[in-house]
Amino acid sequence: MMRVGIVGLPNAGKSTLFNALTRAGAQEAGYPFTTVEPNVAVVGVPDDRLDRVAETVGSAPVIHETIEFHDIAGLVRGAHRGEGLGNRFLANIRETDAIVHVVRVHDDPRVVHPEGRVDPLADVETVETELLFADLEQAERRLERVARQARSLEKEAAAEEGWLREVVDALREGRGVRSVPAPADAPDAPMRLSALTSKPVLFVANVAEGAPPQVPGELLAHAEASGARATAVSARLESELAELENEEAAEMREELGVSESGLAAVVREAFALLDLISFFTAHQGAEARARAIRRGTRARQAAGAVHTDMERGFVAAEVTPWADLVEAGGYAPARERALTRVEGRDYVVQDGDVVTFRFT
Ligand code: GDP
Repeated sequence: MMRVGIVGLPNAGKSTLFNALTRAGAQEAGYPFTTVEPNVAVVGVPDDRLDRVAETVGSAPVIHETIEFHDIAGLVRGAHRGEGLGNRFLANIRETDAIVHVVRVHDDPRVVHPEGRVDPLADVETVETELLFADLEQAERRLERVARQARSLEKEAAAEEGWLREVVDALREGRGVRSVPAPADAPDAPMRLSALTSKPVLFVANVAEGAPPQVPGELLAHAEASGARATAVSARLESELAELENEEAAEMREELGVSESGLAAVVREAFALLDLISFFTAHQGAEARARAIRRGTRARQAAGAVHTDMERGFVAAEVTPWADLVEAGGYAPARERALTRVEGRDYVVQDGDVVTFRFT
């Protein structure tokens, strides 16, 4: 399960966005509920391909891949020195796979700004500075420890030490840990540091309701320069729409001229941050399900994403690209037209493959 942390300055719109995501998650059909905490929303990742496959095969329910969104409050200027919720806040972000950074763009005068002015890029810099300082402290501490080990002439420790020195320099110059490539001789060094500024980031520009959902140019440029993604949404509008029935919400959207659900875009973009691909399993009269795997995963390991028994007893994978399956109108016609292949354990699963595993 992928975990995303929602961060931003106070009043940026984090809780509002989080509430919209929570309601959207609660409406998701077939979602296998587990006990989650009040600051965690579990939301299905929209994927039309899976819906089309399910329809073709006659599968129900349709179970999308899910993301956990964690509402992480408490970031203020000085958080790395312990202001606000300080260190607890930073520890919470460390446990996530990716960051959604909510930036206030709307200038509704009824909403107080912690710095007394609406300036998206300055806000982004305030937040990023806190993350950089927190990483700098962490990297300096780790460097001390690793430097002691490196004296014993361990090759890996020496490589990690060199990398940490580069990391500390980069952070002092205001560049994130992601700007320093992992050392070949210590590939796990970044994982051991678990830096905040190495996590993939999605900027969410919180725009005024009724305004066209557009990321301001300067924020877009900043995102591009740092390898982040960006999308725009009105958190308040989305939270109001999330309270309506689907049909009503669609009508509202049409009236307002907002085509896709802004929320759906946030979820899709957040999913895209980790560069995962999806494959599908679907059987008539049974569930259709999307599974996220790392690009390059082989068939046998992918079977393990469904069930460990399938990985252990893997025999073969019957693979049909989703569009071929839909076009053929089902498994049998797809097989007749030779659109289905039987692949072995080392087959590299492709995005959109519909897979049936044979196992003993
Ligand atoms: P947080 O501190 O980042 O969690 O911010 P909140 O989500 O609590 O939002 C702070 C205030 O801004 C609340 O009163 C929200 O109703 C308001 N707000 C959030 N998003 C929008 C928006 O898109 N437009 C307007 N006008 N107000 C918003």
